[in-house]
Amino acid sequence: MLTELIKNSKKIVIKIGSNTLANEDGSICRDFLQNLSKQVHTLVEEGKQVVIVSSGARIAGVATLGRWMRKEDMHYKQALCSIGQVELMDAYRRVFEDHHIHIGQMLLTRDDFCDRNRTLNIRNTLFTLVDEGVVPIINENDTVSVEEIKIGDNDTLAALTANLWNADLLILFSDIDGVYDKNPKIHKDAELVERVRDIEGLLATIEVGEVNSFGTGGIATKIEAAKTVNNYGIPMILTNGKKEDILLKLINGVEKATVFEGMKR
Ligand code: ADP
Repeated sequence: MLTELIKNSKKIVIKIGSNTLANEDGSICRDFLQNLSKQVHTLVEEGKQVVIVSSGARIAGVATLGRWMRKEDMHYKQALCSIGQVELMDAYRRVFEDHHIHIGQMLLTRDDFCDRNRTLNIRNTLFTLVDEGVVPIINENDTVSVEEIKIGDNDTLAALTANLWNADLLILFSDIDGVYDKNPKIHKDAELVERVRDIEGLLATIEVGEVNSFGTGGIATKIEAAKTVNNYGIPMILTNGKKEDILLKLINGVEKATVFEGMKR
């Protein structure tokens, strides 16, 4: 099932969560990025197109400056993201350079998905980059997005991007193997749900844990993201991006994940 799904998908959006990207101390995990670029390179060699949606600007900002961690003031948070975004893209650029792949940055806001003209421009840029062999790396434009107009989490941003680009598959990288019947970080006996056809049915049977320490994301927004793309007939995989060569392992059937199957187009 997973093998076929990934093999048959040409246009793939991969979302990287902060927990996946960062080490315990908040610094950017170079090993993870190196392995990610290697896997993306393999996919591209097989004729696939990849768009990345990446969190981690704030965490990279904190790691770079070593202060402002506890500042709650909006402007400080935005300033941290502004500093961290540069670090983040620098880290991506270095690892992709090893595979002779160029990257392009796209910073988006909620408005960009509501305004027809902007949406069209984003689509065109996205298609141009990808057609030219560039890997676009998308993040929310935190310096202009105040709370009221924010998309708020990159699970949603990744789902909106997948719909906008008409992707064949959305893959969310997190630090757990998929959706469990209860939070696996707390309950050792939590069981992985491998296939989801009915999202409302799933929500009625599992315990949804709280949002993460950044106050964003959590498993709830991942399930919402699945709903958003499934409505467009795009399937979604939630998997543990922290595991080395995870995409290749999923293709080879040696690792498990959750597949939100969606409707056939
Ligand atoms: P990311 O930074 O990768 O976006 P989040 O921390 O936002 O990840 O969300 C993933 C976390 O959600 C997991 O690490 C897990 O602790 C928590 N969680 C809560 N309930 C569940 C559940 N039922 N199944 C899986 N994970 C859950």
